[in-house]
Amino acid sequence: MACVSTALIVGGGIAGLSAAVALSRAGVSCDVLELAEEPAGASLALSGRATEALAEIGVYEACAARSTVFGDDTTAAHHWDAAGHLISAGPKRPTWPGAKTPLGVHRPALLRVLEETARELGATVRRGVTVRTAHEDADGVDVTLTDGTRGRHDLVIGADGIRSQTRSRVFPEAPEPAYAGQFSLRWMLSGPPVDGEGWYLGPVGRLGFYHLPGDLIYVPAVVDLPAGTRLSEDDTFALFTRLLDSYTAPAVVELRRRLRRDADLIARPFEWILVPAPWHRGRTLLVGDAAHATTAHMGMGGGMAIEDAAVLAQCVRAAAELPEALDAFTRRRYPRVSTVVETSVTLSRLEQEGADTSENMAVLSGAFKTLGEPY
Ligand SMILES: Cc1cc2nc3c(=O)[nH]c(=O)nc-3n(C[C@H](O)[C@H](O)[C@H](O)COP(=O)(O)OP(=O)(O)OC[C@H]3O[C@@H](n4cnc5c(N)ncnc54)[C@H](O)[C@@H]3O)c2cc1C
Repeated sequence: MACVSTALIVGGGIAGLSAAVALSRAGVSCDVLELAEEPAGASLALSGRATEALAEIGVYEACAARSTVFGDDTTAAHHWDAAGHLISAGPKRPTWPGAKTPLGVHRPALLRVLEETARELGATVRRGVTVRTAHEDADGVDVTLTDGTRGRHDLVIGADGIRSQTRSRVFPEAPEPAYAGQFSLRWMLSGPPVDGEGWYLGPVGRLGFYHLPGDLIYVPAVVDLPAGTRLSEDDTFALFTRLLDSYTAPAVVELRRRLRRDADLIARPFEWILVPAPWHRGRTLLVGDAAHATTAHMGMGGGMAIEDAAVLAQCVRAAAELPEALDAFTRRRYPRVSTVVETSVTLSRLEQEGADTSENMAVLSGAFKTLGEPY
């Protein structure tokens, strides 16, 4: 039996909805609050133990049915030069008996699977609403929401992302997110497949692509930009065009041919934060990017959020009292997520310093080996 009966989860992204699924299965009654009216975003890859965590919370098959399942023949992790010559087959990834195959999934599709599953298990998911006030006493947290409704919960979970209001409220001394020196540009387009998936390294930045179900193609890119840079839609389009124009690789030339002025482009600075342990204060716990956000150089931030959910449910099942469960949670999670955050920031720095690809691959392979251990 779980050591809590009710949880209020602030944020219905990957961390919050995964926690709702995992905790509901552990017998905790969960209410999720999400500001956005609709699930949104581009794509993400889930690899390493993240896929095991998806299986543990019971959604791997449903996700795989809506994902690209990366087989052994995928070139998605290959690195090519600007002209399309192979530089490296990508970092070594550990495997183990029964390992689940990595997935590439459109973020809204993943969020829908998680939300549908959470609802089927009895959780509520309320959109367009958040916490206005929260007062904790020895036995629970009284919460008033922005729509005026009130409730009382055993546990409040801040899963509200890198700009977490829950973190600002409960951990006012926590550091602010730091800029890593690079921007991510992402383009989602639909159309027939393009040969040559993988990452392309060129003079303006790094650009990659892979395919998703439903004729979708996901094209992420990384460029170095000074701190304080603001990109308007026009700036983003101009920069992305310049990036594509800097390659002669046939795959990128083909992508450039398909770029239109109304392209679905997202530009965002890479920022990171690692909140010092412990991630709970009283009855409030931070999970996912609210506690540990990172750049995308390892492509594992979302996976860490799913692992958080699986481990939190294990801790809540195993402990007699809530403080014991929350202590165990940070103790188990901190070493793994700090590997991801620190390695990602190192990879970003190496890239900005123009380090050789082999150096990046060595760092990446070492971290993947560590993270191949069970969570
Ligand atoms: C460019 C890029 C590429 C990435 N690629 C990958 C990848 O390939 N693989 C991978 O595993 N990870 C990847 N990541 C990391 C991954 O996106 C994040 O780690 C993951 O989204 C974290 O999930 P989260 O739920 O903690 O936070 P978020 O995804 O930020 O979700 C937080 C949610 O809380 C909501 N919210 C915010 N404030 C409030 C509030 N006050 N009240 C209620 N709701 C609120 C938001 O609307 C949002 O839905 C990538 C990140 C970036 C930037």
